[in-house]
Amino acid sequence: MPEVPNDTDSRTPNELERRSEGPAERSLNFIEQIVEDDLAAGKNWGRVHTRFPPEPNGYLHIGHAKSICLNFGLADKYGGKTNLRFDDTNPVTEDTEYVESIKADVRWLGFEWENEFYASDYFDQLYEFAEKLIQKGLAYVDDSTSEEIAAQKGTPTEPGKESPYRNRSVDENLDLFRRMKAGEFADGAKVLRAKIDMAAPNMHFRDPIMYRIKHAHHHRTGDKWCIYPMYDFAHGQSDSIERITHSLCTLEFEVHRPLYDWYIEKLEIFPSRQIEFARLNLTYTVMSKRKLLQLVNEGHVRGWDDPRMPTIAGIRRRGYTPASIREFADRIGIAKRDNLIDVGLLEFCIREELNKTTTRVMAVVDSRPIKVVITNYPEGQIEELSIENNPEDPESGHRNVPFSSELYIEREDFLENPPKKYFRLSPGGMVRLKGAYIIKCEEVVKNDAGEVVELRCTYIPESRSGSDTSGLKVQGTIHWVSVAHAQEAEVRLYDRLLTSEDPSAEDRDFKEFINPNSLEIVRAFIEPSLKTAQVGERFQFMRKGYFCVDPDSTADQLVFNRTVTLKDTWAKEKKKS
Ligand code: ATP
Ligand code: MG
Repeated sequence: MPEVPNDTDSRTPNELERRSEGPAERSLNFIEQIVEDDLAAGKNWGRVHTRFPPEPNGYLHIGHAKSICLNFGLADKYGGKTNLRFDDTNPVTEDTEYVESIKADVRWLGFEWENEFYASDYFDQLYEFAEKLIQKGLAYVDDSTSEEIAAQKGTPTEPGKESPYRNRSVDENLDLFRRMKAGEFADGAKVLRAKIDMAAPNMHFRDPIMYRIKHAHHHRTGDKWCIYPMYDFAHGQSDSIERITHSLCTLEFEVHRPLYDWYIEKLEIFPSRQIEFARLNLTYTVMSKRKLLQLVNEGHVRGWDDPRMPTIAGIRRRGYTPASIREFADRIGIAKRDNLIDVGLLEFCIREELNKTTTRVMAVVDSRPIKVVITNYPEGQIEELSIENNPEDPESGHRNVPFSSELYIEREDFLENPPKKYFRLSPGGMVRLKGAYIIKCEEVVKNDAGEVVELRCTYIPESRSGSDTSGLKVQGTIHWVSVAHAQEAEVRLYDRLLTSEDPSAEDRDFKEFINPNSLEIVRAFIEPSLKTAQVGERFQFMRKGYFCVDPDSTADQLVFNRTVTLKDTWAKEKKKS
């Protein structure tokens, strides 16, 4: 049992990387290969133009971060550009609050877009495109109900049936479509469908819906429209309008690609190319905005930016840095097949960075600390001990930490009846106080309930760290805070929000796997140098983990979030069970 944990994950980076796509130093991924081939062939006049197209119906999550790093990273690498496009074609679920949060999150990750666009800006153009298809005899207005349309669809092995409205004349279709736009019909009364092939093996080719009627207020176009384009009719055309060269999306859109190409071909517009990659799935995590919205709305978490959430806002509040997320995106790489990434890899990335950058401070994270009284230390004396800020960074310097005859230590660091090889404090035992002296426990003081409240100890004056001439060797080092100088703080300790490794693969609702102990709030006694800590500032609490200052902090009380433990304790738990 090592008493002072080293600052690393118990697994090596190689072990973690084997679960991902490849090492950080990697060859071209398949999308970069396509781009290089296109550039070599002189396609798109040597341009690379990507886009990140979120639907503003929720906060971005770590899966979106992968897509952002991919799209912006690709453009950066090849001297190209990236648009931020809000895919806001569904008026019912979208909101400007989400637009603002998405912009803040992309910028926080370190990227700046070339243009900010909205699919809704193209509604006029898309409407023109739809009329063009009607005129070409490639689209028709259908009065069938949604149930009838679903019944006509057939199955993958059985061809569909043609709608009785399929052979309307161009003039009749134009007239009806214009009247749909003018608001003459109720929601669901009619749709515009592409006229392709009801027997096509690809179900998306069986006369897909292009427009539906929705008398709904849109966050940008207001009440101007009561017909809205479907994703498939809006997305590729928006790419084309923006002259996007490489339109990157997740694998579930692979079966939509023939339709994407069909619209572009029939409309004779700029041929953007859709390329699919595997979405990010993380262990112990649900990623869909719909599910995350449930967690927020039903109060399982405190909000979109709850530090337990896999949203970018949550991860940021938890204490992650943009660089650690970009590093993570780089390490997982880009795959063509779906996989499940160990959330330990994300934790590994932030731990690596914080190990290099954070000041080591002492914090007794314990609502019921034990008081140590050093009986042979001159009463009232205060010594300023110089403690190295970060042994990993020689430039980080030292700071003073006050030492006195009354200290707090963690209850965990004392055992009355210790097992063999217990290197912390026990009756008659010795331990080194970090950066200070060796002490010996002489007497245990208990209250009426039999609880240990105080340890009366002696210290060895010649054992001071840095100038130790005592010749004593002790195995354990523990941290401490001087009682008179301690600041009280609130510390929030987080654990996995879900207990299932792959919640999406379970046959029960993901909410059945909510971990009731995902948040533990404890009191802490922190060294006085932390008094001036600012919101967002990050520290290593020695032996406890990495912590950052939460925005809930007030002038009277700091609140800290534990970003990550020093070691991957979860992996250890799993091995035990
Ligand atoms: P969700 O199901 O979580 O709502 P979405 O795909 O509907 O996700 P969008 O806002 O439409 O969310 O996605 C914007 C972009 O982010 C799309 O290009 C999408 O493919 C990509 N994206 C979404 N989730 C992931 C993920 N888990 N991994 C990688 N990329 C993702
Ligand atoms: Mg979506």
